[in-house]
Amino acid sequence: MDIWEKVASLAKRRGFIFPGSEIYGGLAGTWDYGPLGAELKRNIKNEFWRSMVQERSDVVGLDAAIIMNPKVWEASGHLTSFSDPLVECKKCHHRFRADQLTEKKCPDCGGELTEPKQFNLMVETYLGVIEGEKQKTYLRGEITQGVHVNFKNVLSSTRVKIPFGVAQIGKAFRNEITPGGFTFRSREFEQMELQYYVRPDLKQSMETFEYWKKERMGWYVSLGMKKENLRFKEHAKDELAHYAKAAFDIEYNAEGEWKEMEGIHHRGDWDVRRHQEFSGEDMSYFDEETKEKFLPYIIETSGGVDRATLFFLMNAYEEEKVKEGETRTVLHLHPRLAPYKAAVFPLLANKPDLVKTAKKIYDDLKKDMMVAWDDRGNIGKRYRAQDEAGTPFCITVDFESQEQDDVTVRDRDTMRQERVKIGELKAYLKEHVR
Ligand code: ATP
Repeated sequence: MDIWEKVASLAKRRGFIFPGSEIYGGLAGTWDYGPLGAELKRNIKNEFWRSMVQERSDVVGLDAAIIMNPKVWEASGHLTSFSDPLVECKKCHHRFRADQLTEKKCPDCGGELTEPKQFNLMVETYLGVIEGEKQKTYLRGEITQGVHVNFKNVLSSTRVKIPFGVAQIGKAFRNEITPGGFTFRSREFEQMELQYYVRPDLKQSMETFEYWKKERMGWYVSLGMKKENLRFKEHAKDELAHYAKAAFDIEYNAEGEWKEMEGIHHRGDWDVRRHQEFSGEDMSYFDEETKEKFLPYIIETSGGVDRATLFFLMNAYEEEKVKEGETRTVLHLHPRLAPYKAAVFPLLANKPDLVKTAKKIYDDLKKDMMVAWDDRGNIGKRYRAQDEAGTPFCITVDFESQEQDDVTVRDRDTMRQERVKIGELKAYLKEHVR
């Protein structure tokens, strides 16, 4: 099994990620996050928000609607340029993205392919209550435009001054020709983005661009991604999106396959200029100090929440040899990302005193963090189960606990155990999770 299969299998077995609508045979390109996956994904989004909004004074947050006035997509260029080249096999009628094929024949049956035609990725939907008069709208293909159409609202309702940014997290939809690679290419997915507005000065804006490249790369590393698994890839001039002045991807090394995880793009003034043209609203910024009026340049960082989740899982996954003939599967997730920060066990489930003390600890910790409970099977099995879930600490209440008022805390990565006073447990966990 390669890393993709290993992670997909663990994700299904332990409840991180399930195929969407599975009991009906699934729906290509859709995925459901299970109990552990929902926690992991939310922790990733919370860390993004913390570093991009909470800890900064030059960035504010926003949460725009998924369905927007269709004019937005005319202005942004999505209705004309948001497409991939599609080819179809004349024999088996399977469809492929021409730019992803290495040979000019069908990879499934070897048949002859049609000429590529541009296939638009926007997902259409219809709003309104009168049949025949329903309005065609779109599920947003990127979350970006919700920020730019609110540029003036943010300026007039907050105290931000250029340079400043607006961060957003939310769902996007693309009718991908070839969804696949587990969650890597989905038709419904989530993005976490920053749109950072700067003066329209090429040199200065390129410095900001470099700054954000470094920040974003540093964010993944700070949450435990191994440096050797990350790299920048520059887009060649002919690969640049219709609006971009410069673009770099942060790529993750999935066992030798480098895959895009996030893009850092210099969008020029494309979005504000186009929305000004199409809406007729003045989108310019007025600088109180210099008395200049201008359309700002935009530096964007655009990451996929699902891709980050997938690659954090791959990065954390290890089949570790514990001793001769025994391996354990462990997720070395950063404690801040781990679904559960700790698990609490009574050593024996049939000893009411142990269960009572353990329950008390569990109930108390739950007020501050996600904690798991397990009283099944033997302790060794419970440790293995928590290793697979990525739980950094296992807390066991044993017979000594009754006399000494302490518990055993076992570390996921080193498997070492130490005794911690029950009264100090919460502080201990908070300290180690940070
Ligand atoms: P790709 O070249 O892989 O199709 P893209 O360059 O079109 O991606 P962007 O439009 O720059 O992607 O979107 C920003 C981020 O959103 C990507 O880096 C990726 O993490 C995420 N993303 C884009 N499309 C998908 C998808 N179909 N499924 C999951 N995540 C996606």
